[in-house]
Amino acid sequence: MNLDQITQPFINEFPGDFSGNTMQRQTPKVLFATVAVAEYQNPELIIFNEKLSEEIGLGKIDNESDLQFLNASSVPELLKTYSTAYAGHQFGNWAGQLGDGRAIYAGEIKNSQGKKTEIQWKGAGATPYSRHADGRAVLRSSVREYLMSEAMFHLGIPTTRALSLSFTGEEVMRDMMYDGNPEYEKGAVMVRTAESFLRFGHFELLSAQKETDTLKKLADFAIGNYFPEINTEGTDRYAQFFEKVAERTAAMIVEWYRVGFVHGVMNTDNMSILGLTIDYGPFSFLDEYSLNFTPNTTDLPGRRYAFGNQAKIAQWNLWQLANALFPLIKDEKILEKILNGFSGNFWKQHDEMMAKKFGFNEVMEGDDAFFTDVQQMMGDLNIDYTLFFNQLEKLDEKTDLDTHFKEIFYAPVLAEQSLIFENFIKTYLIRLKKNTVSKAESLSLMQKNNPKFILRNYLLFECIKELNEGKKELFNKLLSALENPYEELYPEFSKKRPPLYDGQTGSSTLSCSS
Ligand code: AMP
Ligand code: MG
Repeated sequence: MNLDQITQPFINEFPGDFSGNTMQRQTPKVLFATVAVAEYQNPELIIFNEKLSEEIGLGKIDNESDLQFLNASSVPELLKTYSTAYAGHQFGNWAGQLGDGRAIYAGEIKNSQGKKTEIQWKGAGATPYSRHADGRAVLRSSVREYLMSEAMFHLGIPTTRALSLSFTGEEVMRDMMYDGNPEYEKGAVMVRTAESFLRFGHFELLSAQKETDTLKKLADFAIGNYFPEINTEGTDRYAQFFEKVAERTAAMIVEWYRVGFVHGVMNTDNMSILGLTIDYGPFSFLDEYSLNFTPNTTDLPGRRYAFGNQAKIAQWNLWQLANALFPLIKDEKILEKILNGFSGNFWKQHDEMMAKKFGFNEVMEGDDAFFTDVQQMMGDLNIDYTLFFNQLEKLDEKTDLDTHFKEIFYAPVLAEQSLIFENFIKTYLIRLKKNTVSKAESLSLMQKNNPKFILRNYLLFECIKELNEGKKELFNKLLSALENPYEELYPEFSKKRPPLYDGQTGSSTLSCSS
């Protein structure tokens, strides 16, 4: 691997603490602190994403030092590994300084096309921002992030990515459900990549600390590197920056709704400036459709981060970013205009997305009401979101509805519900006829927008169980399925969640423990 090509523009440009001290502390006036990685003694590589490594310019594993790098055992001498400071609003409340509690940056790599990618370990040890935690990660949560971030990538959704995953050789104590029953779990470390890991929280921290000069510098850094199309100066420059972040955020959330993804912890420290899905914790794909569903037990009973709330929460988070950027823009009206535009922009894209899922080549009058009715029906009838659209693709006038849709319901269908469903199909078939493209084109729209494979939580649950027992078969199979989500490679994965997993801890219910 080209480890010697890793550069560190971020730490070269910003004020930092180079003491190497990992004692947990507030670090005002600096944006990062250098920290050494854990130097794991008996790590074991589970998986390396060679294709990604080649794409970003890092290349293949050539020798023992490359392995040691991935496993956080040893890093090249000249690399100053570091963690960044950020703040955030968690569950609606200002949480002050948080920072990379267990994320450590190696730096940045450039590929042959000049594209730059940041590289981070997650679970490589304590940092000044670890607060009372250990900076370690367990296999359970690391496997979930590795597979899910890759699944999202292959679905075509903006996301951070996974480069490698290793056992650390250490055991880590976790109270998985926060119920006073801590147990030892296998420790793991993953390497993840992104164009940038900058979060709303980085800006919130500087703003709260009234570090306006550094705030401006950070905004300029972000604009220069990630939004080079912004070429205005002064207030307008930062207003445009905010607008772009809002646009990317809206686009990301629309994509989450397309595939039925619930993030589970949309705190502002988990919101990417680039509109990437980031910090995979107690997330879930929907099995049965429910606007009210939150996989995160910490989110009960409020359900702030429920599936149906995600657009509203994204907008709320953008308000916090607007507040943070205010010292650079100093004009409430501009910010309010952008924020108020978020809903309209979101719903327009949302309806266009839904149209494609149904095979409509454009959004017509009345479609928004149709989509709302379908959402209501899917929720009321406990319909599997993914299987429903897969079956709609194979529908025609002669289809026997009872047999065709038999396997998509999670609860018995009552007589009146059956009627609602039949009426929906009638309305749908009539609406399809209004298309101004061929049947084949309509079908192709559906096939491109409705995944055949989603990484359901129960599959992850089984995969983690097997990996803990030293078996990798399901892990490898899931990897191959998620790389081709719009094809049905494995019919056994195209089934609804078996009843065995209803309410299963670690599958249906998850905590932030990781
Ligand atoms: P999360 O809910 O994963 O977004 O985490 C919130 C904050 O807690 C982030 O700043 C994390 O880096 C930090 N954190 C979570 N788990 C750990 C851990 N095991 N060790 C250190 N910091 C952690
Ligand atoms: Mg986080």
